[in-house]
Amino acid sequence: MYPVSLEVKNRHVLVVGGGGVALRKVQGLVEEGARVTLVAPEVVEPLAEMADRGEIVIERRFYSGEADHSWSLIFAATDDRETNARVFHDAEEAGVWCNVADDPELCSFHLPARVRRGPLQIAIGSAGEAPFVVRRLRQLLERRLGPEWGEWLSSAARYRDAVRDLGAPRDRQETLFDRFFQETVDPDGLTARVPTATEEREWLETPVEHRTPKRERNGKTMKEDRIGFVSLIGAGPGCPGLLTIRGRQRLLDADVVVFDRLAAPALPTDLNAEVELHPVGKVAGNHPVPQEEINDLLVRLARNGQRVVRLKGGDPYVFGRGGEEAEVLAAENVPFEVVPGVTSGVAAMAWAGVPVTHRREAVRLTLLTAHEAIKTDGPQVRWDLLAQDPHATLVGYMGVSALPQVTANLLEHGMDPETPAMMVEQGTTSAQRRVLSTLSELPSAIEAAGLEPPALFAIGPTVSHAETLDWVSKLPLAGQRLLIPVSRSGFAARLEAAGAEVVVLPMPATPVARVVMGALPLTGCVVGTSAEVDWLDAERGGPGWGDDFVAWCVGAEAAARARECGWMSVRELLVETDEDELVASIAG
Ligand code: SAH
Repeated sequence: MYPVSLEVKNRHVLVVGGGGVALRKVQGLVEEGARVTLVAPEVVEPLAEMADRGEIVIERRFYSGEADHSWSLIFAATDDRETNARVFHDAEEAGVWCNVADDPELCSFHLPARVRRGPLQIAIGSAGEAPFVVRRLRQLLERRLGPEWGEWLSSAARYRDAVRDLGAPRDRQETLFDRFFQETVDPDGLTARVPTATEEREWLETPVEHRTPKRERNGKTMKEDRIGFVSLIGAGPGCPGLLTIRGRQRLLDADVVVFDRLAAPALPTDLNAEVELHPVGKVAGNHPVPQEEINDLLVRLARNGQRVVRLKGGDPYVFGRGGEEAEVLAAENVPFEVVPGVTSGVAAMAWAGVPVTHRREAVRLTLLTAHEAIKTDGPQVRWDLLAQDPHATLVGYMGVSALPQVTANLLEHGMDPETPAMMVEQGTTSAQRRVLSTLSELPSAIEAAGLEPPALFAIGPTVSHAETLDWVSKLPLAGQRLLIPVSRSGFAARLEAAGAEVVVLPMPATPVARVVMGALPLTGCVVGTSAEVDWLDAERGGPGWGDDFVAWCVGAEAAARARECGWMSVRELLVETDEDELVASIAG
């Protein structure tokens, strides 16, 4: 088999058959400007409509030997093998290329499956031997190749003209083409980008001898020269926006990220696809990696010359065992830094409407690890001091199971049973829940509500502000965790401002993006094209995707595709829906 691309514009093409298969062939041919005549006694509605619009000519009758030399190409797609065979033999006799649908023996040419991105076309064929893999390969490429490839090809065409206009010698031209490709294509992630006009100008003006391909400049070849380094970073309490700017910068530069479960939702989804990921926290069903192993891992990775990020929930030095890791690094002479994070004990309370200090009400803030505090051989807690300090806020970490013991100790030491008390689960995330109560009632209240770790409790007068200072549940999209393909990331800011947690999914999805998706339940997605639906569909059913997932489809095309893919809840919005209307629709 010898592949070619045919210019069919204005060519006369005969199609025999009027069903769905014929329809698909005809659509492809008409798109490329062929003049199609179709012979069939009956045709499906869309074909009749095409004829009404004058796009094709239909002769409503049975085939009677018109496959002659006046055609450039002939297709047969009837459900009668005899007719198909007749068409093929007539065509052979007339010396015209002929294709019979689903019958490789009756074909003098085969149609490849196609993946199209604008002017870019990738054709896949199996010489008719195994069409089933062709279809699957096509689907795979459909998912892997983002829409940017179309625009990328157009930019490559413009660049080619600009290079030609330079009138440079052939090898200089090739060098300039190499440069374009190296700078715009990520060969591993199969993504491409359109260069800016300034970049193109710069490449075209680079003198021949100073050209250095980017990959060699900052690629892994340099690694041996670097000394390893560990950044101990606080990821904040879970809301992705509460990661610090420095933390984010270090993550983007990292070779390896060693992260806890609590830090997962805050991982940036735009991390380098090649970054090495080491989850060391407890994930459903798995035991956490023991602390000694984590320490060893950090030392080993750094000694490999890698830039290591050790990412922990909240702040690394607040009940995060960050101090122990830093001690090991110091003892092993591994250079390190600490990038503090927003600790959950303060942030989750702010989200729940509690200022942890407040003039005249709380002049002291105690952060307590409840878990340690109830161990008889653990660090001593002065319950007497805590219980008799009415102008303070007591915030307890790791306290779900310890809470009854904690409250009993405080009551025993004379704390007012009516002291306002609350617990916040998954604070600052889309899954946040809070229970307001009093010191004596809190344990039964959280049991009734079924709160689970990670959760924090707060006890003290400032908790009484939780109702009036609740700003979170008033946000229209509070509780939503929405997935949006990177091509629609323009919506992210507006959705976030409305209270949603937004997960921007790079295309194709990266390992880190999958970690983030699965960190908490997703409530839905926003899509606008069938290509976006196909991308997301490739991830559907992964961790984080629950039964309540709603696909918000801007425009009928995306909605139709989502239904075709079998998505459960598909909500169709008008194509011209703006950001405010989108928020209003999701808010319901
Ligand atoms: N270094 C972290 C604390 C780690 S200890 C920090 O500074 O926040 C783990 C405990 O932190 C959990 O058991 C829980 O009590 C608390 N925690 C962490 N993130 C939380 C969140 N988003 N909501 C509620 N509690 C959280």
